[in-house]
Amino acid sequence: MTSRASVWGLVPADLRALGYPRDPRHLFGRFQRLQTWDAEGPVLSRAARELAEASLDLSLPRIVEEAPSQDGSTRVVLALADGARIEAVHMPRAVRRPRVTVCLSSQVGCAMGCTFCATARMGLVRNLEAHEIIGQLFAVMRRYGPLSSDQLSLVFMGMGEPLHNVEAVLRALDVLCDPAGLGIAPNRVTVSTAGHLQGLERLARARYLPLLAVSVNAATDAVRRQLMPIDKKWPLRELRAALATWPQRPHQKITLEYVLLDGINDDLESAERLAAWIGDLRHLLNVIPFNAWGEAGSPYRAPSEEKVQAFVARVHELGCLVTVRRSRGRDVRGACGTLVAT
Ligand code: SAH
Repeated sequence: MTSRASVWGLVPADLRALGYPRDPRHLFGRFQRLQTWDAEGPVLSRAARELAEASLDLSLPRIVEEAPSQDGSTRVVLALADGARIEAVHMPRAVRRPRVTVCLSSQVGCAMGCTFCATARMGLVRNLEAHEIIGQLFAVMRRYGPLSSDQLSLVFMGMGEPLHNVEAVLRALDVLCDPAGLGIAPNRVTVSTAGHLQGLERLARARYLPLLAVSVNAATDAVRRQLMPIDKKWPLRELRAALATWPQRPHQKITLEYVLLDGINDDLESAERLAAWIGDLRHLLNVIPFNAWGEAGSPYRAPSEEKVQAFVARVHELGCLVTVRRSRGRDVRGACGTLVAT
């Protein structure tokens, strides 16, 4: 076993503590700014090489499977040092200015148990460490680009519940948003939660405050707790109260995700209740028609396009800002709620 620390999760102060004699922010930049790497990886001075050889682990998660979708996105399976597997999705957007969104996993599997989500069926295998979250991103960026942060957005919408592993996610944000490194703007990072209010409280005190997305998915607790066991611990009323205190900036909106399941939560009464629950919250409602998974295993179906449109029209009439998320990578099992590494 190696006792070396993975370099990807270290902030400049850690490099200093490991004995680096020069400006640790400079070395941090060498590691974190991928555009300065050569084919082997970071280009290091002699002092840095000595430190790396003595105390640092520079290995990245290994890409073991790549599933390119017809829509230009790619589902990527990565193997971690212990053999555990996670999935990320690389989603370039060609229209207008080039931008890439990378969808990241925060855990191997997930403990939330949402009945409509394929990842839930794995259960929670383990949390990712901050360096594994960052290593996941770097492995994907290195393979598919971009190499710098100015065209990059991150969404924590892959495997896992990020707020059930909030310390590692915060640490990853500390590293990824540090201007001496990749320097990604916090408002280009979205953390999506099933409504883990303890983690949310912690996230609200982040040094680099990301954008927030919340998986609402039902407008009554009776329906929601059938779909999402977490609703028993933190019901809709408490969730709404917590969102009211979320420290977002004036022009920002909270994304509210609502997976539409045929015959379960897609009726007009649900639409009305949802709009009432949202009330005056500054939001963008993202309606996601259910993505099927499993051969015959998935107990739900997507509503017809007419039902999707009727639901959207009703919440729109009632004052919601609403879009339909056409999940990317559906043909390669890369879509929302279908990530499951076996
Ligand atoms: N655990 C976090 C991060 C995962 S984000 C969260 O719950 O927010 C994944 C998003 O996809 C969530 O909004 C979830 O509700 C949605 N989702 C899960 N399974 C889905 C499926 N089969 N089809 C469409 N969306 C799904």
